[in-house]
Amino acid sequence: MGSVGAKEIPQLITPDGRRIDGRLPDELRQLRIVAGPLHRADGSAYVEWGLNKVMAAVYGPREVHPRHLQQNNKAIVQCKYNMAAFSVDERKRPGLDRRSQEISKVIAEAFESVIFVEEFPRTSIDVYIEVLQANAGTRCAGVVAASVALADAGIPMVDLLPSVAVGKVGGKICLDLKKEEDNFGEADLPMALVPQSGRLVLLQMEGHMTRDELSQSLDLGVKGCRSIYEVMRAALREKYSVEPSAATPAAAGVGQ
Ligand code: UDP
Repeated sequence: MGSVGAKEIPQLITPDGRRIDGRLPDELRQLRIVAGPLHRADGSAYVEWGLNKVMAAVYGPREVHPRHLQQNNKAIVQCKYNMAAFSVDERKRPGLDRRSQEISKVIAEAFESVIFVEEFPRTSIDVYIEVLQANAGTRCAGVVAASVALADAGIPMVDLLPSVAVGKVGGKICLDLKKEEDNFGEADLPMALVPQSGRLVLLQMEGHMTRDELSQSLDLGVKGCRSIYEVMRAALREKYSVEPSAATPAAAGVGQ
């Protein structure tokens, strides 16, 4: 343990190159996705990713509320990301704060760029993301859940949107940061990828890294997204294939 002021900083990378939970730098946490668990929503998905637990529900295309947001030539995508008061160690004050407004906005913009919005003028596609338990990477878990929920709702999209955060932890570029790595690491870079085209539709960064580290992070994030994509597709197949399929695989490491 090191310390800065009163804060104890855990050792984030062990001498043999492992992370605080034993993962290698390019390993994902366990990911499990269930498509369509909510019967009253048009589409839904539940994601358990490490210690994150996230539910997404989708409604629409439906009438726009508030009415003045209506667009004559396309659907609008509205997103509400919410972190439950009981989802974190220190109770979070319920309701909208700047962080959830920012996350809702970037997620809505990411989906607006992959949904065929021109096909549904004067409507709204509403995405609700509820974080029930949080351990870093909840916006990415939210994008993954919402993406499967949109597909479950039958909303036409260019592709599913896998998403993951890469970061710099103890000087190493690591995939899929957990809370201690997010809190005490040097940088955090959440992203969402359109797998077919390789286009990034969400990219944020907190902290500092060099140009080389950024490029290494993007490569690792893209590989991570491609693994996550397979788990998303398997969850949809599990719900929609006529033949009973094998259990949804759990992602763990991009090399597998
Ligand atoms: N967090 C918290 N309280 C808050 C906001 C965040 O405890 O009010 C924790 C939570 O575990 C979250 C992590 O800090 O997942 C990282 O938050 P960040 O803002 O980086 O977003 P995320 O990584 O969840 O997308």
